[in-house]
Amino acid sequence: MLIWKAFGRVPILFQRRGMFRVKPSGTTLNLKRNGGEKVKRKKKKLDLFGQPIIEEPHQLLTAQAKIVNLSDSDALLLGLTGYVATKMWNVANHERKAVWQETGKIPGFADQCKTLKNNRWYKLLPSQTSQEVLAELDDSYLSWYGHRRNGDMAAKPPGFRKKDTLSTLTFKQNAFGMLDGNKVLLKLPQKTYERTRLELAYILPPDTTLGKVQQVKLSYEPKTGEWYLLIYHKVKIEYLPPANILAFDLGIVNIVAGYFSTGQSFVVPGGELLALDRYFHKMKAKTNSSRSRKCRGLNRKWSRQRKHYLHVLTKNIVEQAAAHNVSHILVGELKGIHQDKDWGAKQNQELHAWPYRKIIQTLTYKAALKGILVQEVSERNTSTTCPICGKRVKSARVERGLFVHCGQATNADAVGAFNILQRYLRDNGKTLLEVVGELARPVVNLFVWRKSTPLGREQGTFRSVA
Ligand SMILES: [Zn+2]
Repeated sequence: MLIWKAFGRVPILFQRRGMFRVKPSGTTLNLKRNGGEKVKRKKKKLDLFGQPIIEEPHQLLTAQAKIVNLSDSDALLLGLTGYVATKMWNVANHERKAVWQETGKIPGFADQCKTLKNNRWYKLLPSQTSQEVLAELDDSYLSWYGHRRNGDMAAKPPGFRKKDTLSTLTFKQNAFGMLDGNKVLLKLPQKTYERTRLELAYILPPDTTLGKVQQVKLSYEPKTGEWYLLIYHKVKIEYLPPANILAFDLGIVNIVAGYFSTGQSFVVPGGELLALDRYFHKMKAKTNSSRSRKCRGLNRKWSRQRKHYLHVLTKNIVEQAAAHNVSHILVGELKGIHQDKDWGAKQNQELHAWPYRKIIQTLTYKAALKGILVQEVSERNTSTTCPICGKRVKSARVERGLFVHCGQATNADAVGAFNILQRYLRDNGKTLLEVVGELARPVVNLFVWRKSTPLGREQGTFRSVA
């Protein structure tokens, strides 16, 4: 407890990121934090219209496989190694606090790899497994420094793990091997354990095809007593040849408005996400303190539900794109988002951090797995251009999300998406599309939670409303 208090009094000691941390590449130890693989140079590839694009030809995926048919002696060995990893964490954490008290500086990752490499617990695991525990601890400290930098002086430094915790173990490079018949080989250090090679059988989730496996983690679930193998693998992305295009625009009233080059359009109203944020703001306001157990519980739940919403949203967009034979998705560049958007009530902006960046990232990743390339393109003037006559008409945007010009009322957000596509085609010297009547009435995709009570809102799905 004394230590916490001492930490609390340190003013701006660790404000500079990485102050006590030697960059892995710069150390003589040549410690690698990320699996030790060299980052490959990105290859240039041409887009739909022959312009070079930067692409990620591989995606790193994680598959969670359940360990099955675990023998008693293997279970004992796994339990032991999990216990050793917990000891390693606590020893390293204790060292950080002790050195800090003595010298006023907190040792970083590379320092600890040096000072602890002859520690009993360190030597009881494969060296990269021990290093990974030190890396996790380092990440926790960096995150704590970050909280302090952001002015959260109440944030606590990383704590000690309970003795009965079985920590997650990482196996890299030579410490593991993938065997035929859904088996993994794990190697333990010599001389201490009864056996140094463990062969474990696992079951992959349905529809999982493993790419090149980079590393595996063994993780214990205390509630069920099951062990899981987290398999980190790389799959190669094969992008589809040019076919249809989906352009979409991100907004507030409609979080997504999309237009397919085949003429259909759709919108996703943002109200459900807004309602979710409002609900949790209201519940949090009722708690005594932002550090209370109840408030932290609400934060966890809020973030889980938001994450789920974004998962279902991006999945829905990718599914629609695949169903429309789309090879390319265009999205309006985010830097313009604050300019000519209908930002809604002012209070909404304050309560609500709209997760546009997150949507684009998640979408890019999910689309790539289906061979669909996501590109950010300019959205300048796209919300003020009439889809029928092609003129810029700032005054044309009227109330309730309608764009009225040339004697027709169209959905303003769908028009934005349509214009993103038009603009992109024009900039690349391609034929412009004919306006199709569906801009007036896009399909509305509503998000509905599967269970209606706020407490049970964990799962939801999108439903199309004509
Ligand atoms: Zn017009």
